[in-house]
Amino acid sequence: MRKIVFATNNRHKTEEVQSILKGKYEALTLQDIGFDGDIPETAPTLEGNALQKARFVYEQYHVACFADDTGLEVDALGGAPGVHSARYAGDDKNSENNIDKLLNELGDSDNRRARFRCVIAYIDETGGEHLFEGIVAGDILTERQGDGGFGYDSVFRPDGFDCSFAQMSLTDKNRISHRGLAVQKFTETLLGN
Ligand code: IMP
Repeated sequence: MRKIVFATNNRHKTEEVQSILKGKYEALTLQDIGFDGDIPETAPTLEGNALQKARFVYEQYHVACFADDTGLEVDALGGAPGVHSARYAGDDKNSENNIDKLLNELGDSDNRRARFRCVIAYIDETGGEHLFEGIVAGDILTERQGDGGFGYDSVFRPDGFDCSFAQMSLTDKNRISHRGLAVQKFTETLLGN
């Protein structure tokens, strides 16, 4: 089976992506290839960060690799937290604090429209760069629902469902999620080669 490196140490994301690539590609994590540092993520956009991470791995290991960057864009907050989603609550960043800040900022606003946007940057064996985008729209709930998933899952209800991402199975989430859609576009390109 062909191998490809996923430039992340996030176990949840790796499980999600591996379940999509299963049988087609073996997705190796940074840990699998013996890298245990931090990859810089200093660009002002999701596209820039995804490319920065993929280039970092490609320049060191010269293997086909991909990286993703995701932001939660909330209309009533002018698109925040966006590219800052992971660190929304500041240095004290963790999912619980990030969600608390999001719910506080939104208060009892009626406009709770939001979307997760995921960008995947893929660098092929020859150094060619490719970008893929996946978007899922929905609403921010007024309180947490469910305890599956990660990040903002418990307060995001995707359009067409009456439950949060945290209440969905991984298979159902992958089918409609930002990352699932971006990975589907990306794997179509991979399999076409
Ligand atoms: P990252 O840049 O892809 O690591 O994601 C940035 C932030 O968005 C992190 O705080 C994640 O917790 C959050 N995030 C990314 N993907 C998801 C998801 O599928 N569900 C909920 N939160 C997510």
